[in-house]
Amino acid sequence: MISRRAFGLSALAAALVGPELGRAKAGQRVIVVGAGVAGGTAGYLLRRAGAQVTILEAAPHWGGRIKRLEGFADFPIDLGAEWIHADHSVLSEIVDNPAANVDEETITYRPKTYDTWDGESRGSANWLRLAYAERKFKRTTWYGFFERHMLPSVSASLRLNEPVSRIEHSGTGVTVTTAKARYSGDHVIVATPLSVLQKGGISFAPGLPRRITAALGNAVFGSGLKAFFKFKERFYGDITLPHGASGFTADTWSERIFYNAAFGKDSSDHVLGLFQNSNVPLATARQSDAQIQRDLLAELDRIYDGAASQLVEKVQVQNWDRVPYINGTYANDYDEGDQGTLVYAFRPVAGRLFFAGEALGGEVRSTVHGAAFSAYEAVDQLLHA
Ligand SMILES: Cc1cc2nc3c(=O)[nH]c(=O)nc-3n(C[C@H](O)[C@H](O)[C@H](O)COP(=O)(O)OP(=O)(O)OC[C@H]3O[C@@H](n4cnc5c(N)ncnc54)[C@H](O)[C@@H]3O)c2cc1C
Repeated sequence: MISRRAFGLSALAAALVGPELGRAKAGQRVIVVGAGVAGGTAGYLLRRAGAQVTILEAAPHWGGRIKRLEGFADFPIDLGAEWIHADHSVLSEIVDNPAANVDEETITYRPKTYDTWDGESRGSANWLRLAYAERKFKRTTWYGFFERHMLPSVSASLRLNEPVSRIEHSGTGVTVTTAKARYSGDHVIVATPLSVLQKGGISFAPGLPRRITAALGNAVFGSGLKAFFKFKERFYGDITLPHGASGFTADTWSERIFYNAAFGKDSSDHVLGLFQNSNVPLATARQSDAQIQRDLLAELDRIYDGAASQLVEKVQVQNWDRVPYINGTYANDYDEGDQGTLVYAFRPVAGRLFFAGEALGGEVRSTVHGAAFSAYEAVDQLLHA
């Protein structure tokens, strides 16, 4: 994901990572809804604090918008989050455990060759190599990172295939209903994508306060996808900008690039990625993977004189708009000065109901570390409630 964030918002929300998180009260039971980065991190912190934790995940797997594809190429591929939109040190900040060996190798991701396409001819905008750099994993993925550092401590708390449909809370505790069971606890942390709450996928009793429903009404959840192509030979630049160089740096809510996904990896394979995110629903939200694949190959053929369909070996489309319980990309409202609005609106409710997720990552929202830091904040609030 290369966005204006990559150029400007590099400062970490270190302030979000609370000072010492407290200890849970004896027997304190917390239910976490959603096992993505935010829910997983919340579970990890709560278990460390001594709470009894149950993490309810609707999907048959944990991870949410971090997802790994293995066996496609000679390196694991991130079908969701891929870039580290921060310094290497953010990895240790996420894990926050001096005893842990956070030794994942990262690379400086500074693409050198930029191809542009204005609809008729191909050009180059290699000057952009001076304008952009950030980090990526060399060998692992975001999924592999959390699998190594967090999954072991939360796996016993995880309940998969448990879509939550209702959350009730009162002065005495919370009850969370899934298709299979009802769970009781002292507190609940809701760590679903914003889209699930916007669609009313979970009913709340009492209903959510106006500050939250109003924020949900205003927030924009993006639309988008990724796709990966394995080719027999390389014929493309490190980055291909289908709409010319200007689209790359413009202050826009729409991002769309092809990129050499093997850049800096230990790989001899030729893998091209597509990343697309928009603040308005994309046509691809209604298309099959086969249709998307055909259209993208035809587009690459136009840019690269037919090379794509001649050299393609395989394609994988990950259409995030069509993933149940996710329905899109991430909080996509880039209004400057507005970054605290969602965090403020989603303050805890009645000391029972807490919220986490990338949308509540403040200055670093829409990122993996923003999702993790939002969990630190929610757990800090919960332990001090
Ligand atoms: C295409 C794409 C590219 C991205 N690229 C990057 C990148 O390069 N770098 C970066 O830092 N970030 C990137 N991101 C953003 C990053 O992936 C997210 O910010 C982060 O993973 C979100 O974590 P989360 O825990 O908030 O939400 P999620 O990962 O969405 O987790 C929420 C979980 O809740 C579950 N759930 C939903 N409804 C229910 C229910 N009713 N009951 C139970 N469970 C439920 C979902 O199934 C899901 O597992 C990208 C995202 C996308 C989509």
